[in-house]
Amino acid sequence: MPRPIHACIDLAALRHNYRLAQRRATEKFPEAKAWAVVKANAYGHGLLRAARALRDFADGFALLDLNEAVILREAGIKQPILLLEGFFEMADLAICATHALTLAIHRPEQLQMLRQVALPARWPLYLKFNSGMNRLGLTPAQLPAVRRELAALAAAGRLGPVTLMTHFAEADAVGGDPACVAWQIERFRQSIADWPEAANWPVSLANSAAVLRFPQVAHAWVRPGIMLYGGSPFADQDAASLGLRPVMSLHSRVLSVQEIGVGERVGYGGAFVARRPTRVGVVACGYADGYPRHAPGGTPIVVAGQRTRTLGRVSMDMLAADLSDLPMTGVDSPVLLWGEGLPADDVATAAGTISYELFCALARRVPVREV
Ligand SMILES: *Cc1c(COP(=O)(O)O)cnc(C)c1O
Repeated sequence: MPRPIHACIDLAALRHNYRLAQRRATEKFPEAKAWAVVKANAYGHGLLRAARALRDFADGFALLDLNEAVILREAGIKQPILLLEGFFEMADLAICATHALTLAIHRPEQLQMLRQVALPARWPLYLKFNSGMNRLGLTPAQLPAVRRELAALAAAGRLGPVTLMTHFAEADAVGGDPACVAWQIERFRQSIADWPEAANWPVSLANSAAVLRFPQVAHAWVRPGIMLYGGSPFADQDAASLGLRPVMSLHSRVLSVQEIGVGERVGYGGAFVARRPTRVGVVACGYADGYPRHAPGGTPIVVAGQRTRTLGRVSMDMLAADLSDLPMTGVDSPVLLWGEGLPADDVATAAGTISYELFCALARRVPVREV
């Protein structure tokens, strides 16, 4: 028998969450479309699994890795596929052309490469602007070069549809004051103010946080990621209240029970010290499964349907749960690490991280069941 750990991926929940993103986006912009952001192996949920679940109604798929884009095309995905960081070197472009990928352009040099490459493609482009996050994106100083390159591409009949894009750094700000996105929209607008053609091009601004809180900035295309997987982008609002359903649930079982007396300690470093007689459930899940090692004792965990807390340090293959107040539990009791019944966001908060990181870290050794 394999170790009693597995993850369940609820494809109906994924579809539900995608539809919610579409509904929010089309509130103010009836024509708005939604890229299903499936980068990082669909945030740990399985790229092809997510793509198959959404293939009949997703408007497009967005990711970073050229190989992942090819995998989607080879699986028969016909929708537009957006490479969120574009291409990395000229050699990538033949593949991009073959598979009709939409390319994000964040440096003018990428446009030079498009112009120089001897391929008959008409490139669909996303021009990515740096509006204050200062990670990727074109700056106002680069725009003259960008415009020259675009004009050259257009003159050669090699320019496909252009969309303007930027990415918010704090759309998830506590309190949801629209000022947290407005300052970036203003910078974005200013950077294209003297560019008449750009005024007619479609715009893509919103990540999950903006889709959920600021549908007034949805525009032509939104880019929901974490919300598809049922994680809340907000520290001050839970996923259920946003109408999101959890997609990944991580399940295990109790392997062993230790009854310990006052002063006994649990796990590496003896980080938990019993202040009362304690029933310790040893659970088949550790950091090699993707459970965060930095989750401190006291992190929520569900045993036999009841919420309790972890005890001491997380080991590679095991962790400990407090069963003292759960007398009906014992060896083989089912354990939920996160998912339907225990929001991943609660576990992430206790561990000082975000649900994105928990999902992405799900280890390959954990078997996955689709439901
Ligand atoms: C990852 C990513 C998204 C999705 O962000 P979420 O917070 O997961 O919704 C959107 N746009 C870009 C450019 C991204 O890199």
